[in-house]
Amino acid sequence: MTRAYNFSAGPATLPETVLQQAQAEMLDWHGAGASIVELSHRGPEFLQVAQEAEADLRTLMAIPDDYAVLFLQGGATAQQALIPLNFAVPGQKADYVLTGHWGKTAIKQARPYVDVNIAASSENGGFRGIPARADWRLSDDAAYVHVTANETIHGVEFRDTHDVGDVPLVADFSSSIVSEPLDVSKYAVIYAGAQKNLGPVGVSVVIIRRDLLERAGQPRADIFTYASHVAKESMLNTPPTWNWYLAGLVFKWMLAQGGVEEFARRNARKSALLYQVIDNSGGFYRNEVEPAVRSRMNVPFFLKDEALNKPFLDEAKTAGLISLKGHRALGGMRASIYNAMPEEGVQALASFMRDFQQRHG
Ligand SMILES: *Cc1c(COP(=O)(O)O)cnc(C)c1O
Repeated sequence: MTRAYNFSAGPATLPETVLQQAQAEMLDWHGAGASIVELSHRGPEFLQVAQEAEADLRTLMAIPDDYAVLFLQGGATAQQALIPLNFAVPGQKADYVLTGHWGKTAIKQARPYVDVNIAASSENGGFRGIPARADWRLSDDAAYVHVTANETIHGVEFRDTHDVGDVPLVADFSSSIVSEPLDVSKYAVIYAGAQKNLGPVGVSVVIIRRDLLERAGQPRADIFTYASHVAKESMLNTPPTWNWYLAGLVFKWMLAQGGVEEFARRNARKSALLYQVIDNSGGFYRNEVEPAVRSRMNVPFFLKDEALNKPFLDEAKTAGLISLKGHRALGGMRASIYNAMPEEGVQALASFMRDFQQRHG
């Protein structure tokens, strides 16, 4: 068996030891006589898995007690619709800061339910930066302000939490959650699909300051109501048990490795190495994002000569480096280097890129 270094943007690579543990526990979870995915979500075995996952995530992220933590289906995109449904009254304004593809999705999902005000946008500049806070035109009476902490496709990441006063700050952290320490108390809602940094696709983590749960929101079914999910501890209906279990294994792996502080150091080194190779290539490779807001998680880059795209991908694959093709919206390449991508994988990619340039430059 040879596992490649997998730079997929999501679903993304998982820690090998987590996959091995899941494999070992697959047929008989801790002597239960069944796999964890074959047992009731209300039984003692899964309740233990669920509670430990939440406790471990609370430890990892230092989530204060006045925040609820949910493990839900529907992906990040469903949360983008549930947020206005739950936290804004019909016709109310909500401010969106648009810095890339996923910010657009958030706006699209919200539009049926709120009066979207695009408070700032970097679209005219091709989503290569983040508008300065001084240039945001926030509404007086917004239900909340929404930002995308890391734009997975455009490779643009907020490097600071911008102050928005008393208005709840809602952030899509799908592709950068648990990648470095974060002051949760600066946010009202943090949400993330799991398939980038937390585990497998099929579960989303939503962290909500509890006072927001008292908002009336809009007419909606119980299943679309965050307060109901909180009251039922994410078991209003059958939760995605397999995904929740695997995410829990990832949390334990992260804690054993030294927690978010350790991953922040690794992620800084990994991303710095790739940007260095790109910036020192004399234009053979190119990343167009403003250096101050370059993503530590997703490194999009272009080759000077587009005819080299195919040879680059083919030769990378032969070298055991897969899923480097860029998103179709941008073209070029993208290396996603989440927590589970080992430093050796990024070093291998950096060497390959230098070598490829020597042979084709
Ligand atoms: C992947 C991603 C999404 C979409 O997630 P789904 O689980 O497919 O709904 C939303 N926002 C960001 C930042 C993402 O990276």
